[in-house]
Amino acid sequence: MSEQKIPYKIYLDEKEIPTQWYNVRADMKNKPAPLLNPGTLQPMKPEELAPVFCEELVKQEMDDDTAYIPIPEEILNFYKMYRPSPLIRAYFLEKKLDTPAKIYYKFEGNNTSGSHKLNSAIAQAYYAKKQGLKGVTTETGAGQWGTALSMACSYFDLDCQVYMVKVSYEQKPFRREVMRTYGASVTPSPSETTNVGKAILKEHPGTTGSLGCAISEAVEAATSQEGYRYVLGSVLNQVLLHQSVIGLETKAALDKYNIEPDIIIGCAGGGSNLGGLISPFMGQKLRGEKDYRIIAVEPASCPSFTRGKYAYDFCDTGKVCPMAKMYTLGSGFIPSANHAGGLRYHGMSSILSQLYDDGFMEATSVEQTKVFEAAEQFARVEGILPAPESSHAIRVAIDEALRCKETGEEKTIVFGLTGTGYFDMVAYEKFHNKEMTDYIPTDEDLQKSFDTLPPQP
Ligand SMILES: *Cc1c(COP(=O)(O)O)cnc(C)c1O
Repeated sequence: MSEQKIPYKIYLDEKEIPTQWYNVRADMKNKPAPLLNPGTLQPMKPEELAPVFCEELVKQEMDDDTAYIPIPEEILNFYKMYRPSPLIRAYFLEKKLDTPAKIYYKFEGNNTSGSHKLNSAIAQAYYAKKQGLKGVTTETGAGQWGTALSMACSYFDLDCQVYMVKVSYEQKPFRREVMRTYGASVTPSPSETTNVGKAILKEHPGTTGSLGCAISEAVEAATSQEGYRYVLGSVLNQVLLHQSVIGLETKAALDKYNIEPDIIIGCAGGGSNLGGLISPFMGQKLRGEKDYRIIAVEPASCPSFTRGKYAYDFCDTGKVCPMAKMYTLGSGFIPSANHAGGLRYHGMSSILSQLYDDGFMEATSVEQTKVFEAAEQFARVEGILPAPESSHAIRVAIDEALRCKETGEEKTIVFGLTGTGYFDMVAYEKFHNKEMTDYIPTDEDLQKSFDTLPPQP
């Protein structure tokens, strides 16, 4: 296939939206470690998870064997509002970099919530509705997940209660108002509405909150109200499963033009977009059919993969959630100001953690100012204003393309462009005013939070 024949945007037809999610765990020899009950240190049983999560989602969470899971028709119909998402050939960026590399990106920012998170939000809302629930509770940091979930809940007429990290609640009023437009109620966390919130406020008066606190509050709110369950926008196996729609579409688009990627890159917060993007490619790799370089990119300020420990840890500050085995910085870790709010979680998906530990993927960390340099360079030639989170992947894609320029290699690079950055203009402003700092935790900082790791089973 000659180069010219590859269009700027490779669109799939509506009929080509995948009708099944792909569960990469089915092809993993070493399965991800199970969630543990923090009291007994035994694997969580479905009946122990049922008061917290929707029934069908518990099944998906624990299913390590079924490779393909059909996507219910109502979810497929919703996907049609904004999917298939385009796979874009970055011709303009390639030209600007003067690289022989061929760069493609899968753009997930084409919906009002502005990120890939809607792919899982709609699935989780659907299963809650199907179970006859009244509503769901959740936490949100920067606000992308809360926005996506409020859109999904309004579609299914479910109540949506969002605990938003207080500092974001105050600094990102527009996100908050988008959520309220879709009917969600938004509470700054920590709050006086839960026991765990009250306890945290008593211990740390004036705290501006963290994702870990907000999770504890949302879980308590779900378990203390009749007809409510808790939903989470990343990290969990079920979320990676739903996000496999990204990778399946990417693969279908590449296959149309017989394009074989060499390198696949994604940013990693809790691991859901990266896990989704790489799933079908990782499946081929695990089955020994193909080989790809797969790179997770994280902020140097919150380096779970590159400097974390692979251990069982708490998922939240209040320690009300099950324990997960993952690359973690310790649940007591509070990252310094980093504007990529979606990449500030202390842990990483158990699936990706196992794959990384087994050597099936690489990880690298990048500094904030370098990320915004890449974001701006990208925006100026490709037109899209990228989210700071997504720009971590752009940074490494550009670096790999520049390496190709040195060596003359014509590598094919695919990266995930997870969202748009319209709500992150304060961060862009700091970058433009040269007020952005790159705080990298010292080994001592990290040791302090590793000391909060629980005794290992
Ligand atoms: C939440 C978010 C991320 C990071 O979350 P993952 O679960 O690691 O994918 C990345 N990009 C955007 C735009 C986000 O909103």
